[in-house]
Amino acid sequence: MPRHVRHLVFNVVLTSALLMVLSWASVAAQTLPTEATPYRIAYHMTMPNPRSHLFHVLIEVEINKPEEFVDFQMPRWSPGRYGVFEFAKNVQQVYATPGCRPGERCDAAGFYATRIDTQTWRVPMNNSKSLTLRYKVFGDDLSGTFSQLDERHAKYNGASVFMYVLGHKQDPVKLTIEPPPDWRVMNGYSTAANQREWEFANYDILIDTPTEIAPDWTMDEFKVDGKLYRVVVHSFGEEAGKRTALVRDIEKIVRAQTRMWGAPDFDSYTFLIHFAPNGRSGDGMEHLTSTQIINTCTLRSESCYQETLGTASHEFFHVWNVKRLRPIELGPWDFTKPLQTRALWIAEGFTNYYGQLMLRRAGLWDDEQLFHSLGGTITGIENSPGSRLMSAEEASVLAPFLDRAGHEQRTNLSNISISYYPKGELVGLVLDLLIRGRSEGRASLDDVMHLMYDEFYMHSPKATYYLKGRGYTVEDFARVTSQVAGTDMSDFFKRHVRAPETLPYDEAFAHVGLKLVRRAAREPVTAGITTDPRVRQDARIVSIEGDSAAERAGLRQGDVLVSVGKTNVTNASWRGALNIYKRGENVPVTVRRARQTVNATIKLDTPERQEYIIEEIKDATPEALKRRAAWLKAGG
Ligand SMILES: [Zn+2]
Ligand SMILES: [Zn+2]
Repeated sequence: MPRHVRHLVFNVVLTSALLMVLSWASVAAQTLPTEATPYRIAYHMTMPNPRSHLFHVLIEVEINKPEEFVDFQMPRWSPGRYGVFEFAKNVQQVYATPGCRPGERCDAAGFYATRIDTQTWRVPMNNSKSLTLRYKVFGDDLSGTFSQLDERHAKYNGASVFMYVLGHKQDPVKLTIEPPPDWRVMNGYSTAANQREWEFANYDILIDTPTEIAPDWTMDEFKVDGKLYRVVVHSFGEEAGKRTALVRDIEKIVRAQTRMWGAPDFDSYTFLIHFAPNGRSGDGMEHLTSTQIINTCTLRSESCYQETLGTASHEFFHVWNVKRLRPIELGPWDFTKPLQTRALWIAEGFTNYYGQLMLRRAGLWDDEQLFHSLGGTITGIENSPGSRLMSAEEASVLAPFLDRAGHEQRTNLSNISISYYPKGELVGLVLDLLIRGRSEGRASLDDVMHLMYDEFYMHSPKATYYLKGRGYTVEDFARVTSQVAGTDMSDFFKRHVRAPETLPYDEAFAHVGLKLVRRAAREPVTAGITTDPRVRQDARIVSIEGDSAAERAGLRQGDVLVSVGKTNVTNASWRGALNIYKRGENVPVTVRRARQTVNATIKLDTPERQEYIIEEIKDATPEALKRRAAWLKAGG
């Protein structure tokens, strides 16, 4: 997932299905598939009518011993995005044909497969040893999490289109894609642009391979340390000749990250990038040998260009942190219930931190840009009421509620929760500087990450069918940190990770000759109101900060701001209208609430927010300056 999901207002969900009992014991109970003899499983995908948005999927299964039935299941969520989306809701027309031999296709035959729960279909085998299952799956979301088929292209995220054979997720699978005429297929395991067939070690790798299918994507390549990198771009808007520069800058990011980690464990890696100015929402998603990045802007725009570099840096860091060095719950995955892991502040938060630090080390940012960005994150976290109430670890456990899950029931999560992205970013920053300082420059978080990667990915025996090595626990991470720092760091994790105590910024920054300055924010007042950023016209309130001017005025979630003072307002204009007034003044407002019009008065308070700025200490010691240089330019 990308760094630009850092904002502190969450789209959250509390469906009844998610109201589970949280216990650490259940987290540890990662069940593995039974060691059954492998089936022969082959997937075929076609897209005969792109305008229908229906992918046609056919799964051929050959079993090796008599079975009464075979179950097929759609994942409830997808690795990298932890909201529960229930991909089965977009599946239709599921038909099965027992006895159909692989390759025969048995087009005319088939019966309606029985759905036995929301995500599972059951096929009786009737004494046969092979079957074909066919279904259609609707996809019209251009997003790293979902899939889209239309007249322009097909792109999919595997978990949203492919069922697995229950109990046989670990078996090797084949994939064949038949695209429309002149459309070309590309993914992170392609070795040629006209490739139509792939073999994957298991289902988990199959769905970790997002794929782009279109007539008009472009591809640029470069090599770093003998590894091949491809930048595949599908633009629905103007590029203004900036693609060459983009590829060169991505190469700088790859070089900087490879300097820290050493050569990545793959032969080739593919950046799959969309520029879709009319898209609904943008995101990025990490995969083993690729990333899928969706931008709702054109490459022509400078902010879009910079955003793309930031996302690319974040997603590429995941090659190591999360895709290979992974929390124990993250692979193989259990797709029947929401993910439970305590480690997303490492997996996502540290990736946020390093994604930015790597832009500095790659020479794409200067010190000031990095300090400005990190200071912005501190400002966001320290002004967020949830950061006093929820720890980094608890936020990780609640990922299924927080990670862009949709919401129907109104919640107070914007006041009581924190995102593990920015919170984890700051845990990473502070921990890095503390290790550098307390070890007197001999060690850093880079060394912790490196040792973790070596111990858990490179040199651990394979613990499951899924991938090399084994997953780590947060206790493993704390142990390795103390080992690398040469001093006991367990108190840090107890206070600032497991509990929500404010991070020791002052000590951390002092170690590198910096200080954190706090002042009243210059940004516009909001009175504690947040409106829905996805709506252009209506200023619909999605959250109200606890103990804010808006709460005291009696405003509510769901209210639509109609006027502020004497001015009628939209979502674009209400802040401007509010900021005409001075602190201490009374501002008459009108809101629409259901079918009623309600008048209220907002009394603007003293400054609502503090702003945090990272500044250089003028008379910093030579040791501190040396540590700062090592931090910002590590590896040259
Ligand atoms: Zn991420
Ligand atoms: Zn495309």
